[in-house]
Amino acid sequence: MRLSQYFFSTLKEVPKDAEIASHQLMLRAGFIQQLSSGIYSYLPLGLKVLQKFQEILRQELNSAGAIEVLFPSVIPEELWQESERWDAYGDQLLKMTDRLGRQYCFGPTHEEVVTEMAKQFIHSYKQLPLNVYQIQTKFRDELRPRFGLMRGREFCMKDAYSFHDSESSLDETYQVMKTAYYNIFESCGLEVQAVEADSGDIGGSESAEFMITAETGEDAIMKCSESGHAVNVEAAKTMPFKANEFRDQVSIEHVSTPSMKRIEEVVNGLNCSSSDLLKSLLVEVDNELVLVLIRGDHELNELKLKKQLNAFSINFVNDDDVFNTIGTVPGYVGPYQLSECRIVADHSLDPTYPYIVGGNQPDTHLRNVQLKYDVTVESYLDLRNASAGELTPWGGVYEEVRGIEVGHIFKLGTKYSESMKASFMNKEGRPSPFIMGCYGIGVGRTVAAAIEQNSDDKGMVWPKSLSPFDIQLICVNPKKEILTNACDSLYTNLKNTGLDILYDDRLDSPGKKFQDADLIGIPLQVIVGKSFEKSSEIEVKFRSSGDRLSLPYDRCVETIKELFDGC
Ligand code: ATP
Ligand code: MG
Repeated sequence: MRLSQYFFSTLKEVPKDAEIASHQLMLRAGFIQQLSSGIYSYLPLGLKVLQKFQEILRQELNSAGAIEVLFPSVIPEELWQESERWDAYGDQLLKMTDRLGRQYCFGPTHEEVVTEMAKQFIHSYKQLPLNVYQIQTKFRDELRPRFGLMRGREFCMKDAYSFHDSESSLDETYQVMKTAYYNIFESCGLEVQAVEADSGDIGGSESAEFMITAETGEDAIMKCSESGHAVNVEAAKTMPFKANEFRDQVSIEHVSTPSMKRIEEVVNGLNCSSSDLLKSLLVEVDNELVLVLIRGDHELNELKLKKQLNAFSINFVNDDDVFNTIGTVPGYVGPYQLSECRIVADHSLDPTYPYIVGGNQPDTHLRNVQLKYDVTVESYLDLRNASAGELTPWGGVYEEVRGIEVGHIFKLGTKYSESMKASFMNKEGRPSPFIMGCYGIGVGRTVAAAIEQNSDDKGMVWPKSLSPFDIQLICVNPKKEILTNACDSLYTNLKNTGLDILYDDRLDSPGKKFQDADLIGIPLQVIVGKSFEKSSEIEVKFRSSGDRLSLPYDRCVETIKELFDGC
C-alpha cells in the first residue's frame, strides 16, 4: 500500500483523558477515533491489527474444534426475562424499544441467544458436544469507560459457548479452550497468566481469567508466595480470625467526636489506628437493610457480600436514607444497640477486641465495643478484599500485581439451560438440561494490551503476528527519480514474495517519515536513501531493537524476506 494513497493521519495533540500508552498511541497514530464516550471508529491501520488478531482467533479456535456462527446484536427482552437477567444485569444493559413498543437489549454477552439456538436444534446426546464461537460487537453501558479500547462501551468480543451431556465432557472442552487461549496469546507475543476468578453475573462453578501483567491494569491479582497460585482479588479468600484466648468484657465509653465522620478524621482526632475502628456500612440487600462490619483499614468486597448473602442485588444506603430509616446520623452509624437490621461481620474481625464504633448519635463514637459481648452478629463471613502481605489459604502470603483481563473462561453448568428450559434426550432416553461452558476474549482490549506490553517513547512496537503491515518501505526523497525507481521496483518485488508492504512514498521530510515509521511500529523498516545513491545499498532497521543493517540493493529481496521471517 502506498502511504500517499492511504488514509493515514497522525494527531499532534492527544486528549488529556488518554492516560495510558496504548490509548495515547492509538489516537496519535490514527488507529482509532473517539466518536463518543467509550465508542470508537477503527481507522484503516487499527482495523488491520484488529483483523489480524481475529484471524489468529479463527485459526486457533477452528483447530480446537469450535465452529463459527454470528448472532444478532439486538436481542429481544423475552430471552433475557427467561434467564432472569433483564433486571439483574443492571445499568450496563442498553435497552431499547421498537415502534411497536417491544423491548430489546444490545447484547453485552450471548448466553441467552446461544441457549435458544441449542434449544431448537440440539435434541439428542448424539449431537453433543458442540462448541460454537462468534466475533462480534458488544455493548455494555460501562459506568467509567476509559483507556480507549481497553474499556469501551461498544467493543469487539470473541465469545464461545459449549454444550455437553456430562461434566466430564465439559471438563475436556474447558481444558482444550484453556490450551487454545494460551496458544492465541502466545501467537501475539503476549505473556499471560491464568488466574482463578469470580464467575460474576454470568454465573457458574469454575472460571479462570487470562491476565496480562501491566502496571496500568485495572485488576488486582493476588499471588500466593508459596504455591504460586494466582487469584483475582475479587475471588481471593481471606483467612478467618483465630482466637488464642478471649479478652474479658470492658465497659463502653462515649467519646465526643465533632466533625469526625470519616475514618481518617477519627484516626487523627482520637489518635488511634484505623485498625482500631470498625466501619459500619448500611446496605440494602434485596430490599432488606443489613449492617456490614469491616475493620477500618480493610476494604469491602461487594461481589463477596452479594455472594455470601445470596443476594440478587445490593445497594448502599445514602446519607438521607440513613437518617430516615434508622434515625441515626450519617458518619456516626454503629452496631451497638442497633435493632433495626441484621448485622453481619467480616470473619477476620476479632470478636473480643475493644473497637471504636459510631455511636448512632450526632458527634459521638463509642470506645471498647466488643462484638462478642455487645453486638448480636448474625454471622461472620469472608466479606473483604485480601491485601498484600496477609496469609493465604495455601500457606504463604499474598503478593499483589496489576493485570489486564484479556480473556475469561467459565464452566456455566446448567444455569441457563435450566432457566430457559433447554434440554436434550440423554443416553437413558430422558430429557436433561445442557451442561454449558462459555469462553470470552476482548479483541480490542487484547490489541491495546499488546501495545501496553510492547511500546517505547517513540511509539508502538508490534509483534509481527499483529502488525498492520509486514514491512515499512521508506523512500527518503521521492523527488529523486533514482530513489523512486529503486523503491518502486523493490515495492513490487517484495509484494511478489507475499509480504504486506506499507510504502512511504510521501513528499514529506525524511525526519517526519522516520518518526511516523517508529510511531506505527511495523517490525522492519527498509530505507532507501543516501547510501543507495553512494553505493547501491539499502538500510534495514529493526523497530524493536533499533539495530540497523546495510544490504546491497541487488538480491536484497531474499534477505529482507529471511529477516522478516526471523523477526
Ligand atoms: P471487566 O471485569 O474488565 O469489566 P468482564 O469480566 O465483565 O470484564 P467478561 O464478561 O468476562 O468481562 O467478557 C469477556 C472479555 O471481554 C473480557 O475478558 C474482556 O477482555 C472483554 N471486555 C469486557 N468488557 C469490556 C469492555 N468494556 N471493553 C473492552 N473489552 C471488554
Ligand atoms: Mg470477566
